[in-house]
Amino acid sequence: MFPKLIADLHTHTLASTHAYSTLQEMVQAASAIGLYAIAITDHGRSMPGAPGKWYFENMGIIPSHWMGVRVIKGIEANITDYYGTLDVDEFTTSSLEWVIASIHRETLPWRDDIDAVTNTYIQVAKNPLVNVIGHSGHEAYKYDYEKVIPIFGDYGKLVEINEATFNVRKESVANCVKIAELCKRHGVGVVVNSDAHFQMLVGKAPRALQMLEEIGFPSELIINADARKMQNYFAQHNIEI
Ligand SMILES: [Zn+2]
Ligand SMILES: [Zn+2]
Repeated sequence: MFPKLIADLHTHTLASTHAYSTLQEMVQAASAIGLYAIAITDHGRSMPGAPGKWYFENMGIIPSHWMGVRVIKGIEANITDYYGTLDVDEFTTSSLEWVIASIHRETLPWRDDIDAVTNTYIQVAKNPLVNVIGHSGHEAYKYDYEKVIPIFGDYGKLVEINEATFNVRKESVANCVKIAELCKRHGVGVVVNSDAHFQMLVGKAPRALQMLEEIGFPSELIINADARKMQNYFAQHNIEI
């Protein structure tokens, strides 16, 4: 049987100001469905309405274990230019355990240039602060998947398969399938996340999982479907979970 998720590693709280649940509500929701872990990953500061740097730098006051759930302190940083620059610095990430790097239309001016996006993602792959490449199937920011996916693997980046893509970025679904197929071919680890902006969506990624099942994606490459795999991954980054 295709595995279930044991952790949701991309979620937003009220602090992002276009999400609607408190951090407590998000953790409660994770606890109610028996998740092992939830990562709180509000948007980096260049997203309109995003919290300031102190929000992230103060996350250490939140318990690591709450309501039986490992609460991972993270950020969804924005890629803000075609050099792969992020809107978070090393000082801020040193307070965090998990960094997703994503392109959003709101924070990277669109250019009709696949080579530029390809180069951007190669730079992000090389950035040691980054754990995960967030929802990179965006139709408006296509890149050379064949070239870059193995490079993500070479630099130890996880590739996200994002449930919200199937709801709010439907035009990206075909790209996500290609990305997943290349991860399968090159043995690149993925995380499957809800990108929940509301508590009822925590831990839910049925369409993403269905797509992976349909392409015969190897379950051993899904990091957040297995506690030991997650622990091994985080141990490599000196984080105990
Ligand atoms: Zn958002
Ligand atoms: Zn997000």
